[in-house]
Amino acid sequence: MPRKPPAIIYIIKCKNPAIKGCYVGSTLNFKTRYNTHKQDSINSKRLLYEYIRLTGGFKKWTMEPLAFVPNWRSGKDYREIEKTFIEMYKPFYNQNIPNRTLNDWKKENKERIAIHNNTWKAKNPEKYKKYRVDYARKNKEKMKKTTNEYYKKNRERILELNNYKMTCVCGCKISRFHLKNGKHKYSLRHHNNLLEKLKEGREKLKSNNLNINPLI
Ligand SMILES: [Zn+2]
Repeated sequence: MPRKPPAIIYIIKCKNPAIKGCYVGSTLNFKTRYNTHKQDSINSKRLLYEYIRLTGGFKKWTMEPLAFVPNWRSGKDYREIEKTFIEMYKPFYNQNIPNRTLNDWKKENKERIAIHNNTWKAKNPEKYKKYRVDYARKNKEKMKKTTNEYYKKNRERILELNNYKMTCVCGCKISRFHLKNGKHKYSLRHHNNLLEKLKEGREKLKSNNLNINPLI
């Protein structure tokens, strides 16, 4: 039998340490895997590659081995070791952790995803606007139908809910209806409060005890 090549656990991260967020993976052929990542960074829509493009492209990022696993018997062996590294580094961009669904990942990373999305929106206001317009256009009938049906079924509860005072993401107390449909979210007050909150959020992530991958 031909000898198996060692498995290599690797990390992909930005050369600029100020840009956080990384990816941990495993491969039996480092060079081939490197080229696939490089190619994906040009056109893949996955979050990792979107972020690599947003931060200057693959040339600004590096892929480095973390560990060599020579004596593995089945893929499960080195996937276990990969998992250990994933748990250690808590990389933001590993959505396919063994035994974890995408939904689990989203649940665990809610705060980081929100910051990532808000950053993207702030950096790409035109694209975001277009996305919203496109989405509304494509789903107009569907959205209308769902809303009408829902309203019929839940009228009382909706009225009660609409008057319910809520705290906006910016920190303001405001009725739910006004929050969803009023002008508050376009106001300068909301905008300024939100900028403060975003700053706080980033600080909070930076001061996590491992201090490994705050995104910004
Ligand atoms: Zn607000």
